[in-house]
Amino acid sequence: MSAYPDTQLFIDGAWGPAMAGGVLPVLNPATGEQIGTLARAEIADLDRALAATERGFHIWRNTSAYERARIMRKAATLLRERVEAIARLMTLEQGKPLAESRVETAAAADIIDWFAGEAQRAYGWVIPPRAGHIMQTAVKEPVGPVAAFAPWNFPINQIVRKVSAALAAGCSIIAKGPEETPASPAALIQAFHDAGVPPGVIGLVYGDPATISTYLIPHPVIRKITFTGSTPVGKTLAAMAGQHMKRATMELGGHAPAIVFEDADLDIAVKLLAASKFRNAGQVCVSPTRFLVQERVYDRFVADFAAAASAITVGDGLAEGTVMGPLANPRRVQAMEALVQDAVQKGATLVTGGERLGNAGNYFQPTVLSRVPLDARAMNEEPFGPLALFRPFSTLDDVLAEANRLPYGLAAYAYTSSAATVQALSTRVESGMLSINHAGLALPETPFGGMKDSGYGSEGGAEAIDAYLNTKFVTVA
Ligand code: NAD
Repeated sequence: MSAYPDTQLFIDGAWGPAMAGGVLPVLNPATGEQIGTLARAEIADLDRALAATERGFHIWRNTSAYERARIMRKAATLLRERVEAIARLMTLEQGKPLAESRVETAAAADIIDWFAGEAQRAYGWVIPPRAGHIMQTAVKEPVGPVAAFAPWNFPINQIVRKVSAALAAGCSIIAKGPEETPASPAALIQAFHDAGVPPGVIGLVYGDPATISTYLIPHPVIRKITFTGSTPVGKTLAAMAGQHMKRATMELGGHAPAIVFEDADLDIAVKLLAASKFRNAGQVCVSPTRFLVQERVYDRFVADFAAAASAITVGDGLAEGTVMGPLANPRRVQAMEALVQDAVQKGATLVTGGERLGNAGNYFQPTVLSRVPLDARAMNEEPFGPLALFRPFSTLDDVLAEANRLPYGLAAYAYTSSAATVQALSTRVESGMLSINHAGLALPETPFGGMKDSGYGSEGGAEAIDAYLNTKFVTVA
C-alpha cells in the first residue's frame, strides 16, 4: 500500500488539526479499507479561517495583478512537477485510474496558468462623458472573501477552478474540500502555498458540509459563494446566498442527451461516447446519459456501444490496464442497483452490465439499458454512475423535445454530418454546453456552466473571472 497522509486543516498559512481534535475516516473505494483520516472543522476553526481570510483579502487585493499572476504560474509549475505523487493520492482516495488522475492534475496546472493570464486582463473601461471636464471610468475590484464548496468526483479540478478564479481577481478564499477525497486537493493548496501565496489568502477546511455552509454563507466576512454538487443542495445554498445578498455561482447536476443521427460517423460516435460515458465511472456532471439514436441505426449502434462497454477493464485504479475504477463511495453503488432495477421493472432491456462486481470495493459494471421508458427513475434523475440509457427517435423535432424535456441543462452531445442539423441543434438545444462530432468540453479557456436547474455562472472562459469582480463606476469633474 502506498503511503497516504492524514489531512489537516489549512488556516492562516499553516496546516493543523481541528481545535476540538475531531477527525473523519478516509476510505479507499477500491478496497473499502480506511487509509487515513482528515481533520473535522468545527465553528471555532471556521472563526479562525474567517479572521485569516479577512486579513488575507487585504494583503491580496493590494498585491499587483502582475505579482499575483507570477505566484500563480509558479504554483502551476510546482503542480506539474508533482503530478506523479499527487495522482497516486487521488487514485487511492477517489478510485479513478491513475492515467485519469495524472490528466486531472496536469490539467489543473493549465487552469491556474490560464487564470493567471486573466488576472492581468481584468480590464475596466472609459465611458465618453457628456461634458469635456468630466472623466467617467468603470473599474474592476475583487468582490471580497469567497466561500467555495467542492465535491469528490474531480478532487482537484473542481476546487482549482474556484481557487484560481478567486486568486486572479484578487479575492481571498475559504474552500470546503471534499471529505471523501481530501489529500489531493490538500496537495494542490500546498503548491499554492509553496509558490508564495501569503497566509490567509487561501483556507482549506473539511467537516460536516451543512454545518460549514450554514455558518460561512451568511457570515458578513464572506462576499461570494461558489458551489459544485447536486441540484437539491445547490438550490438550498443559492437560497441562503440570496437571503444574505451574496453573489453566487452554481455548478449543479446534469443529465446530458447524446444524440446520434443516422448520417453520423457511427464508429467515431461509439468510440468517443463510450470513452466519455465511462470516464471516472460516469461520476461526471457532463457525462452523456440519455443516448438518443435515430431508428434506422438504433440496433446496430446499441450493439456496438454494448460491445465497447463490456470490453472495459474494471479494476483498482492503481493497477496496470484498468480503464474504469470503482465508484467513489458505497452510496453510488446502491444508487446504481436501485436505478437499474427500477428501469428493468418498468420495461427497459438490460443489454450488458447491471450488477456490482466482487464483494470488496465499490465496483459496478459498465451498464447499457435499451428502450428505457420515460418514467424510469434513471431517465429523470442524474444517475452519476456508469449507466448508458438508450432510446430510439425518428425526427429532429422528436429528439429535441426529449433532449429538452428535463429541468437540467448542462451538457449535450450530438453526432451528425448534416450542416442543417448542426444549425438546428446549436439554436434549439437547451444546455450550457453543446459538443458536436467530438468530446470537446471543459477547457480552461472555454465557458463551463449550465442553464435551468443545472445552475448559473461559468467556471471557464473569459467570463469566469467576472463572477469574482465588482464593477465600480467612478466619475470625476
Ligand atoms: P450530496 O448531494 O449529498 O452531495 C453532493 C456534494 O455537495 C458533496 O460534495 C457534498 O459534500 C456537498 N454537500 C452536501 N450537502 C451540503 C451542504 N448542506 N452544504 C455544502 N455542501 C454540501 O450527494 P453525494 O452522494 O455526495 O453525491 C451524489 C450526487 O451529487 C450526484 O447524484 C450528483 O448529482 C451530485 N454531484 C454532482 C457533482 C458535479 O460535478 N456537479 C459532483 C459531485 C456530486
